Amino acid sequence: MSKRDYYDVLGVTRQVGDDELKKAYRKLAMKYHPDRNPGDHKAEEHFKEVSEAYEVLTDSQKRAVYDQYGHEGLSRSGGGGFGGAGGFADIFGDVFSDIFGGGGGGRSGPRRGADLRFIMELTLEQAVFGSTENIGIPTWDECESCHGYGTADGKKAPGCQTCHGSGQVRVQQGFFVLQQTCPKCRGSGTLVGDACRSCRGAGKTRRDKTLEVKVPPGVDTGDRIRLTGEGEPGDQNAPNGDLYVQINVKPHEIFERDGNDLHCSVPISVVTAALGGPLEVPTLDGKIEIEVPEGSQSGKQFRLRGRGVRSVRTSGPGDLYCTVFVETPVRLNKAQKELLKQFGETLDKDNKHHPEASSWLGKAKKFFDDLTAR
Ligand SMILES: [Zn+2]
Ligand SMILES: [Zn+2]
Repeated sequence: MSKRDYYDVLGVTRQVGDDELKKAYRKLAMKYHPDRNPGDHKAEEHFKEVSEAYEVLTDSQKRAVYDQYGHEGLSRSGGGGFGGAGGFADIFGDVFSDIFGGGGGGRSGPRRGADLRFIMELTLEQAVFGSTENIGIPTWDECESCHGYGTADGKKAPGCQTCHGSGQVRVQQGFFVLQQTCPKCRGSGTLVGDACRSCRGAGKTRRDKTLEVKVPPGVDTGDRIRLTGEGEPGDQNAPNGDLYVQINVKPHEIFERDGNDLHCSVPISVVTAALGGPLEVPTLDGKIEIEVPEGSQSGKQFRLRGRGVRSVRTSGPGDLYCTVFVETPVRLNKAQKELLKQFGETLDKDNKHHPEASSWLGKAKKFFDDLTAR
């Protein structure tokens, strides 16, 4: 399967800035979110693709590699650790994916562990007010059967003769001397005869552990929390990878978030719309009452200052935009219908009470006149 260009996936230009990138990601992540598309595998694929593209482009180092070498560059710098066949990818599937380890290609010496990514789903309230979440992540212990040696007999494996235990060999190629991974021991420096059955020679066994993650108030879809050293283990004397917790905020029943602002729409009765009156509107801290003026139309927007969201980066809160729409009453009884009919007859025929209708009728008349004149 060939991968699509990350910039195309997010629908942004190659010059895209951080804010715009995040906006694009948030829009697509919301659109393809599994909660919004239950059972839709295409949407799920899109969701993953979009998350991956964002993951890379939001990281200046990875983005630079991608810009220069494309997908190829990113996969080449990875490897090592447990990322290969039979690794955690099968087990964790959707939740984890190995993202390129730290070292560059061809680097010798002990390798840093690969980074892990955990996608954390939060409700809007959890994201806005912050929360403490427990997540299950994989961790590696020394294998008990072989004491970490990876051998069937649990004893230290003999050193590799070919590389004298260094795991690296020098190869003459023309004028150059290249350092390569030892073909005999494949870089481990030791020769494991019969591999330990418990860990299949890795010397480590996997265990799930629970990690407490403090989510600061104001995070949004696309934000990442980095937990240093909680990724995959590195080689001996090399640091572990990091764990990146990537935030995804689930769609909310009432509110839609746009940066620091919140949007919601509230139905009003035709009576409140015509006569005006108090209206209860929801905010994240509870209900508040606003005054709907007489003669309000569908689509009228009320701005409630400071009732939005305080983001992790900015100090002041955003606003809440509340849009009202007039709901036509249904299931009227006979008496109610009669009253409405009587009311309708009191309305002037010249549409004094319906300025929108009269201007629309004017436009429609012009349209038909132009049509017949042609
Ligand atoms: Zn073992
Ligand atoms: Zn060797």
